[in-house]
Parts: sequence; C-alpha cells; structure tokens
Amino acid sequence: MRLPTVPPTAGLPLQAADLRPWGSENFAQALAHWLGVAEVQLECSGTSALMVALRTLKARQPQRSEVIAPAYTCPLVALAVAQCGLHLRLCDLRADTLDMDSACLQALCSEQTLAVLPTHLCGRVADVAAAVLCARAMGAYVIEDAAQALGARINHQSVGLQGDIGFFSLAVGKGLSTFEGGVLISRDAELARALQDHSRRHTRPERWWELRRSVELLGYAALYRPQGLHLAYGKPLQKSLARGDWVEAAGDDFDDFIPQHTLGRWRQRVGARALQRLRDFQQQTQAQAMARMTKLESLGLEVLGDAASDAQGIWPVILIRMPDMPSRNALLKAQWASGCGLSLPFVHVLPDYGRYQHVLAFAQQDTVTQARDWAQRLVAVSNSPWLDSSRFGGLLQDLQQAIGSQNKSA
Ligand SMILES: *Cc1c(COP(=O)(O)O)cnc(C)c1O
Repeated sequence: MRLPTVPPTAGLPLQAADLRPWGSENFAQALAHWLGVAEVQLECSGTSALMVALRTLKARQPQRSEVIAPAYTCPLVALAVAQCGLHLRLCDLRADTLDMDSACLQALCSEQTLAVLPTHLCGRVADVAAAVLCARAMGAYVIEDAAQALGARINHQSVGLQGDIGFFSLAVGKGLSTFEGGVLISRDAELARALQDHSRRHTRPERWWELRRSVELLGYAALYRPQGLHLAYGKPLQKSLARGDWVEAAGDDFDDFIPQHTLGRWRQRVGARALQRLRDFQQQTQAQAMARMTKLESLGLEVLGDAASDAQGIWPVILIRMPDMPSRNALLKAQWASGCGLSLPFVHVLPDYGRYQHVLAFAQQDTVTQARDWAQRLVAVSNSPWLDSSRFGGLLQDLQQAIGSQNKSA
C-alpha cells in the first residue's frame, strides 16, 4: 500500500462536529479572547485583510505611495499592494535570520513610505522592533505580516501588536482554517475603528464566493486526513513536479485578482469550534518540533529557531538552511514528490518568478542578493503529526545523504 501523503504544513484537522450548520458561536470574540486582545476584525483572506490595512493607512497619508516588504515573501503581498494602487519596494534579508536587513531597510525608507511589513515567516517571530525604529523615523506605519504565525508570541503577547496593525491568515495550510480567511488586529483603538469603518463601507457579502468557499471547506474537511491527502495534494503535486513546475508545486501560482467580501457565518462557526483545539494542537506540534530539531541539528544541519529569547513562535514546519543550492535541489528532486513532507516556503524571491514582474515595476533596482540565497537554500520539513517517527527517520537519512554528498563534492 502507498504511504499516506504528509501535508506540507501542520494544519489543524477539522472534525465532523465542527461542520454543524447551527450554533451561536462568536468566532471574532473567541479569537480575540484566544489571542488576548480586545477585539479582532474578520476578513475573507489574509490578503484581503492586508488590503483593508493598506487602504485605511493610505486614507490617512494619501501622499505616500510605497510599501516595503521582504524580498522573500508570499507573492500575494505583491498582488495586494498593486491592487491598492501602491508601489512595492523589496528589502533584502539579513544573512543570519529571515529578518529584513536594517541597513537595507533604512536605505529604502523615505517620505514616500506608507508602510513597512516585517513578516513572521513560517511561524518564526520576526524582529518587529527594528522595523518600527526605521519606519517611525520616516513617519511610516508598520503592518506585521503574521499570516503564518497565528498563536506565535513575543514577550507573552501575540505577534501583531508591536506594529500599528497585524494580520493573520486562515487559509488552508496556515494552521486554523476556514478554507480562506483573514484576521486584523491593532493595539491602537483609533486605528482599529478606522479599519472597521473601512470594512463596513467597502466589504459586502458575496453569495457566490461564500458558497464556493463553503464547498471548498467541506472538501478540505473530508480530504484533510492521511488517506485523503493523496487525492487533494499528493497527486496534483506529483503532476506539477513531473512537469518540473516548482512554482505550481509550491502553490506559488496566484491569480492577480484578489476577491474581497465578508467571511460567512457558517465558516465563522466552524472556525470557532476548531479554535477550541488549537492550543493543544500547537503544544503538541511544538513538542514534536523541539525533539526533531535536536535530531536535525545533530546531523550538522542548520535549523532555524526564533532569534529573540522572549519569542515563542509556532511550528507549522521546521525550516532548514542547506549548505548550498545544489544539495537543496538534489534533495527536493529525490524526495519532494514522495509526499514525505518536504516543501518550500516559497520557490523564489519575488523578482525571480517572472509571472509577478508587472507588480514589481518600482522594485527593479532593489537589492535581493541575500534573500535569493535564502530562497535557494531553504527547505521546509512538515511538522504535521502525520509525519510519524518512522518516516521522519527516513527523512533524516535522506538529509544526511544530501549533506554527505555535498561534503564529498566540496
Ligand atoms: C499566505 C500569506 C499571505 C496571504 O494570506 P491569504 O490568507 O492566503 O490571503 C500573506 N503573507 C504571507 C507571508 C503568507 O504566507
């Protein structure tokens, strides 16, 4: 029998009882309580949440037109910035962490800058304080991209509260999921009002989108299990990889158009019910990540943790930086298609995709050298509990071989 396909990230599986049509759960309230904040604002996706944030800030500072994001991030960020009529600038990364390089950020920040987007990539906690320092000096805002970090904390409070605005994603593969969904938070009560006002005025229910997302959520609930994932994820993955299409395999192939509408009641109730299991699930995945990181490190691999000592990230994946691109690519060519839990956070730095050139007109001159090096050497090991210890053991051997042959050829 075929081994089950491991999902690329540790998503919280839904249960049949989550899907009941009736109920009076208040997702926004439950999530605010869970995060330890006064209130949250629900949107139909993380990208849509980012667009609400950008447009709200743009209304306050209409003369500013640039948004600065790390060069290695989700292409949806670039599409959102463009759809808001703003210009994306790309910041290079540091050599030792996935944070934006301070000197580079300082050089990019100007009177044109509307917002800077420090990004908590793959659940790792970013250095927001450094971004705040740079942004403030130029009168710019800070939006924390915490799309992949719902539940991550710094200094005993949720990420997303050090900057002016923070957003989370509830998309498939990002932990807690309503198939698509987004969450906005702000520690600034006045800004929180402005975000709500903007949504109230511009975001409408869309029956067709809601129906589509509801059916997709049901399909996800049905197939997100060890024997169902081959159909939903494993098989399409193999097809993409057989064609050599890594961008499609990694799910980096996004449409330009970003839908914006409200998040339907039923999907909110599903989210509220699943949320009750999220803390336990994240504790379980954290314990698994800690144990597995030790094993990975003992092979001599470089595993990414949280740089700040008071940070507690979440663990959808374990990130490894391979010694070089050939060893990383050889590993993926040999193992990605087998569904054993290897994947890429993103395939490229934004300028290297080709298909997103049209939204990067203002970023042509921006330096992305170090970010590109990260993009070429990172690999994500799924931290799903369905990657059991025997298959993880197999992966350890594959990794050992990958760095072993690299050492020989060096
Ligand atoms: C997924 C993601 C987004 C967009 O969130 P969606 O809910 O998928 O629209 C934004 N930024 C980062 C870093 C992401 O990973």
